[in-house]
Amino acid sequence: MNISFVGAGVGSLYAALLLTKRNPSLHITIYEKEARVGGRLNYVEFENGAKVDEGPTIVLLPSKLKQQLIEAGLSEDEVELLEVDPLYRLRYQDGTSFYKYRDIERQADEIERTFGEGDAFRRYMSQKKEEYQIGFNTFLDRSYASKTELFEPKLLLLLMRLKAYESAHGNMKRFFEDERLRVAYSLQTLYIGGNPYATPSLYGLIPYREQEEGVWYVKGGYFSLATTMENELKRRGVRFVMNATVNRVHVTDGVANGVTVNDEYVPYDAVIVNGDFPLMERLVDGVTPKAYEPSSGTLLLYFTVKGELDLPIHQFDLPNDFEGSMRTIFEDGKLSEYPAMYTFNPSRMDETLAPDGTSVLYVLVPVPRKLEREDIEAQGTIDHLVGRIEVLLPDFRERVIEMKVRTPMDAERFGLFEGGSFGIAPKLSQSAAFKPQARPFSKIERLYAVGASVHPCGGVPIVMIGSQLLVKKMEEEMGAIHRDDTRSVSSM
Ligand SMILES: Cc1cc2nc3c(=O)[nH]c(=O)nc-3n(C[C@H](O)[C@H](O)[C@H](O)COP(=O)(O)OP(=O)(O)OC[C@H]3O[C@@H](n4cnc5c(N)ncnc54)[C@H](O)[C@@H]3O)c2cc1C
Repeated sequence: MNISFVGAGVGSLYAALLLTKRNPSLHITIYEKEARVGGRLNYVEFENGAKVDEGPTIVLLPSKLKQQLIEAGLSEDEVELLEVDPLYRLRYQDGTSFYKYRDIERQADEIERTFGEGDAFRRYMSQKKEEYQIGFNTFLDRSYASKTELFEPKLLLLLMRLKAYESAHGNMKRFFEDERLRVAYSLQTLYIGGNPYATPSLYGLIPYREQEEGVWYVKGGYFSLATTMENELKRRGVRFVMNATVNRVHVTDGVANGVTVNDEYVPYDAVIVNGDFPLMERLVDGVTPKAYEPSSGTLLLYFTVKGELDLPIHQFDLPNDFEGSMRTIFEDGKLSEYPAMYTFNPSRMDETLAPDGTSVLYVLVPVPRKLEREDIEAQGTIDHLVGRIEVLLPDFRERVIEMKVRTPMDAERFGLFEGGSFGIAPKLSQSAAFKPQARPFSKIERLYAVGASVHPCGGVPIVMIGSQLLVKKMEEEMGAIHRDDTRSVSSM
């Protein structure tokens, strides 16, 4: 059986690992329009040879990730996971700052010291523990055959119990009095491109899990996970075709039977699309594309600098009026004057990224989509952000060797739907059964999908859960394909 993947993002790479582990006789071809695998899980390279992660930096769900790698036949020592503790520092414009620690009692003390709400934090952790188990098993780790499944009374009751009708930030009002704490435990919806004031509290379980399992780091950079997967797939005989754009997915009589790649038709028994789903849908014969709402855009600055940087590995630098800043970005579609800023200083724990005597720094800021560098420069945003780094590192500007910038329009040109960094927006009408599934069209057989805009959600280990659901679905259906040889393109 010949199977092709459109795109070499982590969703494809991991699904191909699972498929080759379980069905070694499969012939798999992965088409990737770029020269490198990994998609968003990639790196930026500087002239001095330094490298820094281009997209993902925070390894969440480390135990799940380890389990996933083992399930796909990779040994644990192929990917070295290092714990980052404290998880990160939160700095507020008013001068307050506090750390998140994995140890619950240490965290409660830190919150008591800073906000006088240590007990509220303990209550948060015990209530969210219960909610997480329900949320994970019921809504994340399963596929949906139809939208109506979500209306089963049992699921509706669970959604009510999880208060899915509240926003992630609104839900924090049940726990914390101080607005800065509410923000500290809801801003994580931004990890998947959602406004904490509008994203359902179901996604607000991310900060709970982050606190419980901690934040981790892949030695060599998160991007090295993609290279590890690629090398293993090559060892298993998977064919990678790089610089190869798939322009069409062919469907005949309700069955996907091949792709057009670089203007040439190539037959396949099954096709899995991994590019951003709203754009992939447009390639499929006979499908009328649906309207989707994209996630937020991001402005990314990458630096290589002289010397070490006295900054925590992860840091959030937040405005006093966080709510106003979110409104400006998500509702008014404008750049915020004092945006939330995330910095990542991996050189602090990984000397392999930059030549001796230099470091790398990554800066991410949520911004509206559709912005070009000129729009951002016209508002002085890059200068403003560098100025904020200089509050902590006064000579930062002079130490910069090289800076690279990535805008929402760069993301759109790369192939992210409308420049949204994280797939389709995390809102109820685009979640769970309402999200494209591993088998996205009931009327098209042998066409499958995986990736950040496909159920369950964006984020590396979560996309990999999507790969697991995809492989399960394919295996259920592949039995039928084997029995019905008349449908096999190899017999055409
Ligand atoms: C700035 C940023 C920060 C992030 N931070 C984190 C984080 O800290 N932690 C975390 O877990 N996650 C994070 N994420 C999310 C995570 O990176 C994604 O959810 C995940 O990598 C998406 O994988 P995917 O399988 O959807 O593939 P993608 O990364 O979308 O890759 C799809 C691939 O398909 C290719 N392709 C598209 N169209 C075609 C075509 N027609 N023909 C051939 N090839 C095609 C593309 O070139 C691409 O390589 C972040 C993302 C971004 C952008």
